[in-house]
Amino acid sequence: MQFCFALFLSQRFKKKYNTTVVLGGPFVSFFGHLFYSNIFNFADFIILGDGRVPLLRLIDHLKGNDAISRIPNLVYRREDNKIIENPREDYPIEDIPLPDFDGLPLEAYRIKQDTNNLVLPYQISKGCLNRCSFCTFPAVSRKLAFKSNDKVVNDLAQMKKKYQSRIFFFCDELINNSYDRLEELCDLFIKNKLDILWSAHAKVGNLDKRILKKMREAGCFRLAFGIESGSNKILESMNKGFTAEQAGNTLKDAFEAGINVRISLINGYPHEKNDDVKKTLDFIRKNRKYISYAWVYKFSLNYGSAIYLHPERYGVKNLIAENRDFCFRFDETSGLKWKQRKRQQRYNHMRTLQAVYGNLAFNRKHRLLLFCFISAFYFITVKLKKAYSFISIKLKRTYFFIVKPK
Ligand code: SF4
Repeated sequence: MQFCFALFLSQRFKKKYNTTVVLGGPFVSFFGHLFYSNIFNFADFIILGDGRVPLLRLIDHLKGNDAISRIPNLVYRREDNKIIENPREDYPIEDIPLPDFDGLPLEAYRIKQDTNNLVLPYQISKGCLNRCSFCTFPAVSRKLAFKSNDKVVNDLAQMKKKYQSRIFFFCDELINNSYDRLEELCDLFIKNKLDILWSAHAKVGNLDKRILKKMREAGCFRLAFGIESGSNKILESMNKGFTAEQAGNTLKDAFEAGINVRISLINGYPHEKNDDVKKTLDFIRKNRKYISYAWVYKFSLNYGSAIYLHPERYGVKNLIAENRDFCFRFDETSGLKWKQRKRQQRYNHMRTLQAVYGNLAFNRKHRLLLFCFISAFYFITVKLKKAYSFISIKLKRTYFFIVKPK
């Protein structure tokens, strides 16, 4: 969706300002080659992966100072219409300068509940040590890299002062890729009296009570965990590296340390049976008091994920591109066809939502309320439509009367 919007914006910019348009980011870096020729109908260049240095060199090239073939990570269309992809280069994460929000609409970073503070994103590390079977990220992000903890502390202190805000979102894939680094960072936050609040994504597996308490002391107020399922069979197939019991314990420890806990769940993973869904629902019920929010996603088989690369290992077959070549429909080798799967997934999705939101979602009383609401909405829109067509006929007549009589 964002990608389509980016193409639409590119087209508008080119039309209105006749400017050069460069696209970058994880989506084009990974999926771009599937439709390069289409992209070049909207944009002039694509930069794959880390774009900081290539973008500056591209500007040099546009000023006539650098040869296009020497700009790393650049994709461009040659005069003979051939698409050229220059060799890739990675750059040290340590060299990323202090994030600069000047000129951006800072109001968009403000939270309603706390009008004094912004929530500023900051990246400490790049990459993920996990290899979840459904995730395309391991293919996009090549290596794990960290900024030095001293740089992180300095950057955050400067941003806090410059933007008069103490709330940060660490937009790393996982804050706890390294236990030791995380602990050292928390110690530095505490020792330097940084006095910030931060949230992050974390994995189950290497967080114990001690580190969670230290994280809270260092300003961590929220963690989001990718739990995905309450069934150990599914967790193992997903290659999550933890069991449902371990997940429950980590959520409990985080909650007891005073950290707000959010989780994500996935419905419809290949070979997920009723029994697995039941285990997920039990997991939610058992751990509900520790969870402040849950995202419930429907499983999607994406280009580049381990399941896409090795379908036979995960018991899926007949992969057919569904959505511009990066989402695939499939059958299960057990005999379950796509359409049945979809039906099952929709049903289980509802059940999980109901378990997550408890009585709020789709019990009998709410179904009745929903029915009343839809009926009222239908009645009002039909009436409005009639009124509108009546008014527009009147207006048209008036217009005809005023403009045409001569
Ligand atoms: S789902 Fe999250 S933890 Fe798993 S591989 Fe992807 S980024 Fe890493």
